[in-house]
Amino acid sequence: MSAKVHILLIEDEKSSCAYIATLLARDGYQITSATTGKEGLSLAASRCPNLVLLDLGLPDMDGFQVLEQLRGWSHVPIIIVSACNEEQEKVKALDSGADDYVTKPFYPNELTARIRTALRHSRSGAPSQIYRALNLEINFDRRSIHLNGVQIHLTQIEYQLLTLLAENAGRVLTYNAILRHIWGPYAEENNQILRVNMANIRRKIEKNPAQPQYVFTEVGVGYRIRENENG
Ligand code: CA
Repeated sequence: MSAKVHILLIEDEKSSCAYIATLLARDGYQITSATTGKEGLSLAASRCPNLVLLDLGLPDMDGFQVLEQLRGWSHVPIIIVSACNEEQEKVKALDSGADDYVTKPFYPNELTARIRTALRHSRSGAPSQIYRALNLEINFDRRSIHLNGVQIHLTQIEYQLLTLLAENAGRVLTYNAILRHIWGPYAEENNQILRVNMANIRRKIEKNPAQPQYVFTEVGVGYRIRENENG
């Protein structure tokens, strides 16, 4: 029998804590809870969890401080679980090193799907050579993209954008993270160029670009591509 995946939950609200713990125990995860930032940081160091769920509104410290301190020494996947649905807070959390963000209240499946995605990315040393979802297939080695078996032609930038998302399938990437990655550190913080390229990609791969099946917009935050079915 393999050891259970260990999740550290840093959350001060008792009802929320109990709900998440029940949910995760049902899926076979081992849970440790902390109700303050300080306790959370200490447990993260002593218990070496496989993943951290972090609430940003904690009684003793700002959740962002907890995130920054954790990221100072650990690559553990961190998912923010917050009652705040503000785009700026999501962007700040993701750009500060959080792997994902879930807003309360959430559907049980939403949280567990994000957890599986974050764990998969932290485990896979070598990225998968093939991205496959519905009728879209990207072969990173051959640099080829097929939709319904027909090859799709993308520009260099479009290809880089799509593969960046596909390498991070299931996770949201912020506009800034994408701009920095594709256009470098001197990229203007101007999403227009990104939007234009994304619109072109969608015209080529989505049946109905207004209702995308592959590349989803997280309004004010960034983009997320559909989970890789190829593992
Ligand atoms: Ca709280």
